[in-house]
Amino acid sequence: MSKVLVLNCGSSSVKYRLYDDDHVLDKGVVERVGEPGGGPADHAGAVRQILAGLDLTGLAAVGHRVVHGGRRFTTPTLVDDAVLAAITDLVPLAPLHNPANLAGIAMAREALPGVPQVAVFDTAFHHTLPESAATYAIDRDIAQRYGIRRYGFHGTSHAYVSRRTAELLGRPYAEVNTITLHLGNGASACAVAGGRSIATSMGMSPLEGLVMGTRSGDLDPTVVFHLRREGGMGVDEIDDLLNHRSGLLGLTGANDMREVLARRAAGDEAAMLAFDIYCRRLTGYVGAYYALLGRVDAVTFTAGVGEHSGPVRAAALAGLGRLGVAVDPERNAGSGDRFISPDGAQVAVCVVSTDEEREIARAARAVVSDGN
Ligand code: ADP
Repeated sequence: MSKVLVLNCGSSSVKYRLYDDDHVLDKGVVERVGEPGGGPADHAGAVRQILAGLDLTGLAAVGHRVVHGGRRFTTPTLVDDAVLAAITDLVPLAPLHNPANLAGIAMAREALPGVPQVAVFDTAFHHTLPESAATYAIDRDIAQRYGIRRYGFHGTSHAYVSRRTAELLGRPYAEVNTITLHLGNGASACAVAGGRSIATSMGMSPLEGLVMGTRSGDLDPTVVFHLRREGGMGVDEIDDLLNHRSGLLGLTGANDMREVLARRAAGDEAAMLAFDIYCRRLTGYVGAYYALLGRVDAVTFTAGVGEHSGPVRAAALAGLGRLGVAVDPERNAGSGDRFISPDGAQVAVCVVSTDEEREIARAARAVVSDGN
């Protein structure tokens, strides 16, 4: 038996899954980490609590989701002291994410001596971005000095979903061009040409791009200067506003798309506007990535909203008929991994259920068996 444990330390939660090969033996989430009244005091405590509750005999590896791998990490990586130091060096680029990931790795290492720990980076899939996609049009020396460039995130999901799309099409991955739309609490779009990420909407951080549950997505940077100068807000306050109190939450008071859809159906104007902003942003990215790819074989929706919200899928792609993109209402209302475009459509539209944990488990297993 060879088990792999996957740990995903988010800002206030730790999700875990224990696999035996591809079979899920156990899974769960510890929430309210570090919040007063309830959960464990910190991520180390949460991981300790998880490890204590699992039968880890025969554990071959632990796979850790790490949000920011910078330019250095382009593949899943076996953790040693140098790797931990390098992930620590990346904290300034991902102050909201990497510290939690690091705490989880450190705790698992301490509690499970001798078990290989593998870091799987959200950024890694996007290391193929061309320089013209990754470079912001600012002073080159300053960009270089501070590591300012587009890194992209959700890479594990975009990789899995684009590969799965090729499978559904019954064509070799290397020949298929896909636009993948990962719409969860965080949301990002990716243009994948023959298995390579060539454009993605999240940038130096997960803040850029699409409208998300609590993040604004694309914004004129002047908004930040204005809030600082005219609003007297501190940088951390603005950071918190744009990352945690914007997006659907800022527009409607609810960060959950189900709630927004229910209010919209009841005629709530703020919810109707939020839905339109959310979908219009998606339409714009699909159009832009269509232009960049030149030929698109499939547009694929995934994650909470992408997998479950027919109205978002239909509205995001409405009006793209001239591009050969259309949604069949009956298929759109169905469930499971499937095509939702009409038969004979020039561009397939797909829904694929993403599974980042399974991908991380596979990656961890692959790193460990390569090393032997
Ligand atoms: P995370 O990004 O945290 O992994 P998910 O991918 O599960 O989250 O996406 C979570 C979001 O999916 C929720 O906030 C909710 O808005 C949305 N969602 C889940 N189910 C539905 C549904 N049936 N209809 C519309 N939106 C849904």
